[in-house]
Amino acid sequence: AVCGAAPIRAPDGSIGGAVLTLGDVTRLREVQEQREDLSRMISHDLRTPLGVILAQAKLIGRRAEATDAVRTRADAIATSAQRMTSMLNDLVESTLLEAGKLRLEREPVDLAAMARDLRGRLAAPYDGERIRIEEGPQLPKVSADPARLERVLVNLFTNALKYSEPGTEVLVRLGGQEAEVVLEVVDRGPGIEPADLPHLFERYFRALGHRRYEGMGLGLYTARCLVEAHGGTIAVHSERGRGSTFRVRLPTADRLG
Ligand code: ADP
Repeated sequence: AVCGAAPIRAPDGSIGGAVLTLGDVTRLREVQEQREDLSRMISHDLRTPLGVILAQAKLIGRRAEATDAVRTRADAIATSAQRMTSMLNDLVESTLLEAGKLRLEREPVDLAAMARDLRGRLAAPYDGERIRIEEGPQLPKVSADPARLERVLVNLFTNALKYSEPGTEVLVRLGGQEAEVVLEVVDRGPGIEPADLPHLFERYFRALGHRRYEGMGLGLYTARCLVEAHGGTIAVHSERGRGSTFRVRLPTADRLG
C-alpha cells in the first residue's frame, strides 16, 4: 500500500503515537487490471478478424479478373486494416510496458538492415521511396528485441512521412560508436510548436493542428517506452517551418556482453 507515517511527539520528544495515512490503491489496481484485460481482449479478439480482413482484401485485389476499381478499393481496405493493426499493436504494447509485463527477447540486431527492409515494406499511403538511408561506417549491432525495435522504427518513419508534404525527403541517418548506435529520422515537415515539444512523448498527446490525420497519439509514447525498456533514449529537435529530427540512442550488443 502507499502509506506515510508521521510521529506524534510528546513535549519531551518521546513518540506518543503516529498518524498513518493509507492511500486507497485498490481502485488504482482495479483500473490497471481492467486496462490489461482490455488490452488482452484487443490483442486476441480484434487482431484476428482484422488479419482476416487484411488477407481477404489482398486476395481480392490480386485476382486476375479484378478491375482497377476493385483493386483500388481492395487496397484501401487492406491499408486501413493494416493501420488499425498498427494502432492496436501500440495500444497493447504500451499497456503491457506500463504494467511491467513486456518481456524483451534481445539479440544482436543490425539496425541498418532493419531500416532498409522496413523502407521496402512500407505500403500506401506511406511512400518508402521518400526515405533515404545514410549509414555511418562499421555500424555495431544493437542489443534489441527485433519485433519491438521495428515498432519504434515503424512509428518514427510513418510519422515523418505522414506529417510532411508528399514528395519531400525523409532522411534516416545511422551512426555508431563503441557503446551506442544513434538513429536519426529527419523530415522537412512543418516542425513542432515549442509549447508542444515537452508533451510529444506523452500518452494520447496529439498536436492541435494535426487532429485531421489518423492517429491515437500512442505512436511516440510507445516508441519512448520501448526505447527506454531497451536502455536507450529518444529525443526530438524541431524548428518550426523547417522540420523535425527524432534521435534514438541504443546500447550496442557489445556493451551488454
Ligand atoms: P499520432 O501520429 O497517432 O497522432 P504520435 O504519438 O505518433 O501520435 O505523435 C504525437 C503527435 O506528435 C502527433 O499527433 C503530431 O502532432 C506530432 N508529431 C509526431 N511526429 C511528427 C513529425 N515528424 N512532425 C511533426 N509533428 C509530429
